Amino acid sequence: MIEKQETKDTVRALIARYRNLNLIIAIAGGLIAIVLITVIVIVISTNLKGDTLPVNAVYDDGGHLTGIIGDPTVCIDPGHGYDDPGADSDFLGEDTAEREINFDVSLRVRDILIEYGVNVIMTHDTNIPDDKIPQNEDGKYVIDPVWRADFANKNSPDIFVSLHCDSFPQDSSVSGTRIYYMSSAEGGKEASRVASLCAGKIEEAFEDEIKLRNMSPNDAYYVIKNISAPSILIEMGFITNEEDARNMLTDNWRQKMADAIAAGIINSLLKY
Ligand SMILES: [Zn+2]
Repeated sequence: MIEKQETKDTVRALIARYRNLNLIIAIAGGLIAIVLITVIVIVISTNLKGDTLPVNAVYDDGGHLTGIIGDPTVCIDPGHGYDDPGADSDFLGEDTAEREINFDVSLRVRDILIEYGVNVIMTHDTNIPDDKIPQNEDGKYVIDPVWRADFANKNSPDIFVSLHCDSFPQDSSVSGTRIYYMSSAEGGKEASRVASLCAGKIEEAFEDEIKLRNMSPNDAYYVIKNISAPSILIEMGFITNEEDARNMLTDNWRQKMADAIAAGIINSLLKY
């Protein structure tokens, strides 16, 4: 009797254990299904997001790119401006500081992009003070990086490009172009592609190796860290290097640099 009772109890315990096991399997299965569905939804929505970005190119009969459609917007940010001349050097002469070079190349990039059907917005397209730019405590018109980042974030461009010239008075032999981005930023993955495509075009144009710098959050420029669009900052050359500075004063160098940067930007838009 006792033995039979024990056997019955063991069977009941086993049934109960298997019921629990079934419950656990059902819960685990449910959780796995939820995770899988979430992953699928994320993958699909990421791809759909890609589809809303500009992807279409217009070619002429010779197969040359003549324009792009899809309404892309690029924000060009000429470094410094207004009452902020940026860096200066004896090699640039009296009338020119970094501000003038950044501004001139930016306008050239803008004009090329517009020709190809890209919408262009600029953090500033004049150096004459207006209501748009806040005055600082000294009454000077200076656009700080926070204002630039806010401007870009409000307008949600597809790409943000800031143009500057570098300065390294400690060693006048340092020269060349450097492109900065931060791959860990919100649009950082795309920014690294925009940076390398622009670098490729500048290398082609100037037959010179361009240094790409993936910045860490501690060292990154404010604009490439705080703008949600893919953002890069190009230091086009060193005004403290005699040859770079001499080149930067020429129309030929500025147009070549603008052509290369615009080509890099257009390639980036097409490759989304
Ligand atoms: Zn600068």
